[in-house]
Formats: sequence, C-alpha cells, structure tokens
Amino acid sequence: MKRPGVILKKGKEASLMRRHPWVFSGAIQTIEGDVAEGDVVEVIDHKNRFLATGHYQPGSIAVRVLSFGREPIGGNFWRKKLENALALRRELGLAGSNHTSMYRLVHGEGDGLPGLIVDIYGRTAVMQAHTAGMMRSAGEIVRALREIMGENLKAVYNKSRQTLPGRMREDHRDGYLYGEKEEGPFLESGLSFFADWEQGQKTGFYIDQRENRKLLGKFVAGKKVLNMFGHSGGFSVYALQGGARVVHTVDSSRTAIDQAEENLRVNSGFPGRHTAFVADAMEYLKNIWDRYDVIVLDPPAYAKHGEARQNALQGYRRLNQAALEKMESGGMLFTFSCSQVVSREQFRRSVFVAAATAGRHVRILYQTAQPPDHPVSLYHPEGEYLKGLILRVE
Ligand code: SAH
Repeated sequence: MKRPGVILKKGKEASLMRRHPWVFSGAIQTIEGDVAEGDVVEVIDHKNRFLATGHYQPGSIAVRVLSFGREPIGGNFWRKKLENALALRRELGLAGSNHTSMYRLVHGEGDGLPGLIVDIYGRTAVMQAHTAGMMRSAGEIVRALREIMGENLKAVYNKSRQTLPGRMREDHRDGYLYGEKEEGPFLESGLSFFADWEQGQKTGFYIDQRENRKLLGKFVAGKKVLNMFGHSGGFSVYALQGGARVVHTVDSSRTAIDQAEENLRVNSGFPGRHTAFVADAMEYLKNIWDRYDVIVLDPPAYAKHGEARQNALQGYRRLNQAALEKMESGGMLFTFSCSQVVSREQFRRSVFVAAATAGRHVRILYQTAQPPDHPVSLYHPEGEYLKGLILRVE
C-alpha cells in the first residue's frame, strides 16, 4: 500500500537535509493521499524527491522523522532502534549493571525515536508516547522490547495520559501492556529508591539527575544541606550517604515528601540527620533563620512554552537570589533549570543577576547537563533541556 506523501514547499527541505527530525505544519505545501493522526507518511520535496519517513501528527510539528530512508516501519525497524538504544546503555554501564537498575532506555529524538520515552526500573519498562503514532505502535514496541530484553523484562507500563496530545489524552487509560507491578526498591549507584510510575511524577523517578546527585555526594561531608524541590529525596539520600551532617528536604507536595522519607528509610534511615518539610520554596527561604553550606535548587520547568520564557527567567532570578541570601560563605549552590525553552546562556544570566543582587561573590565550578542515557542529537538541539550550574559562593 502506498503511503501518504507530505509535500514540502520549495526551500523547506533544508532542515531535513541537515537531519533535523521535525517538519513544521507551515512547511507543508500539500498532502497526497488520505492521512490520519498517527499514520506513517513519506516526506517529499517540491521536486518530488524523497526526504524521510515519519509519523504524522496534526499540530505545529506535523511530522516527526523515524527514518531518513524509505524503510518499512515494522518489527525489524523497532527491534533495530531499540537494540541500538540498549547497546548504548550497556556501554554506559547502565543496562546489566549490578549497582544501577533504573535508567532511560529511549530518549525520543536522542535515540532516533521522536515522541517515545522508555524508562527502565528493574524489570519493568515504563513508556510514554507523546504522539498518536507512537501510541499506535505500542504493541510493536512491547514485542520488540520483549525480544531484545528477554528475561530482563517482566512488565511494560504505558503512562501516556500526561504526554499524549489533546483529545487523545482524554480517551487514554494508563496501564500494563504486559506483565504486572513490581514493587522495588530499585538501585541507583548502589543506593535504593522506590519509583511510583502509577501515581508519581514523570515515569516515577527523576532519573535525569543521577550524575548531578553523584557530584553532590562528593562535596557534602560534614555540611548542612538544603535539598529544595526534593521530590522523592534523590539528592538527600546521596548527601547523607556522602556524610552530610544535616539534610533538610523541602517540597510542596505531601506525596513527594512521604516518598522521600520512605527512600531515606530504605537506605538505613540516617537517624537524626534528616528532616523533611512540606512547604513552598519561596516561603521557606524567606522565613527561615538557618543558613546552609550547600543548597540544591531543582525546580519544576518554569516555562513549557516560549511565551512563558520571560516569567521563567524572573522566577529563576528570584529563587536563586533567595537561596544565595541563605548561604554560608564558602558554600556551594547546585542550581538547575529543566525548562527546554530556557537556554543555558539565559539561565546563567538570571543566576548572574541573582548573585549580583544578593551581593555574593560566585564562581562556576561545573556546568552540567542531563546524563548520557538522555542523549541529545546534534541535529536536534531542542533535546537539551537540563542545565546545571555548580557554584562556589563567598
Ligand atoms: N530534585 C528532584 C526532582 C524535583 S522535581 C529529584 O531529584 O528527584 C520538582 C519538585 O518541585 C516536585 O517534586 C514538585 O512537587 C516540587 N514543587 C513544585 N512547586 C514547588 C514549590 N513552589 N515549592 C516547593 N516545591 C515545589
């Protein structure tokens, strides 16, 4: 059966020729054949030359490229892509490791699979489809995952209700596509964590902060640490393991704080060294007398769209200023932005204004990013979302 063809306007082929994996709706001249949300289509230039194969999705990003070749999108395709993804995680020391059992197996465009996220927790894969095409391919994705992972896969949970586009979201029910719930805990760098993919945020755990948590662990011995936006306590557990004298975990969500306390318990509890607070970040920072040697600031994405960028930058400035005012001299601030629309430069600038306003002398020790199981395609810089600044504060 011939696939529908998406014909581009003259000149609009350039970004695809540079292997950028998106076709914006404004680039389309016409669509040949019947096309429905989630269909596999061919992208053709104005001279009728083939450019790419991808998933069609009505909206601003109309096609997400699956292949720059003319290949069938079936069993072999999914197996090959997922095998590549798994091979990389093996090389990174994640898949097959006996001290880390949670990692990201598929990071959308970074693994040549735009619209698909797969995170691994022990022997459970949690998938999130961001497009109708990926949702419709779920059956094939599960089959391919089982083939490549064998005994290491016992369950696949589809958590796409938060991520599917508009109307599809309402019709979707999250649930197991294969197997059943495994309780955990799971391992990260030899530490234990529960991950609640059924009720929790993201796919159940902030896997993307693994490397930054490790770095924190190196700088906290004997220190008083504040883990702001602590969620399920990832940074706190590493800090206590790293010898912190006192750790305070703050999050506005009661559920998150309960999870943090459970994660501390399962790692020996660190009696007498940890306290958790359910509180708003700005309120907490304004009202406390305490000063900290080390503060972690890992807020949720302040801007999801370009229009919200200015407000987000103001938000980062205020938050970082409030934290800098509560730091001991010789302290360290681990500050992050996970807003995809805020660039590294913009984030750094808002922290600069915060430091200048707070009147602190600040040096950058590390500039960090998302870990390598969240790879960024060089042709798709939009995939880089997590930015971290690790600062020495006097
Ligand atoms: N650092 C965490 C992930 C943080 S996600 C980790 O490594 O696991 C952001 C967290 O901020 C969420 O848990 C959310 O509940 C919390 N949050 C959102 N708004 C907040 C606010 N105004 N004050 C405090 N916490 C907030």
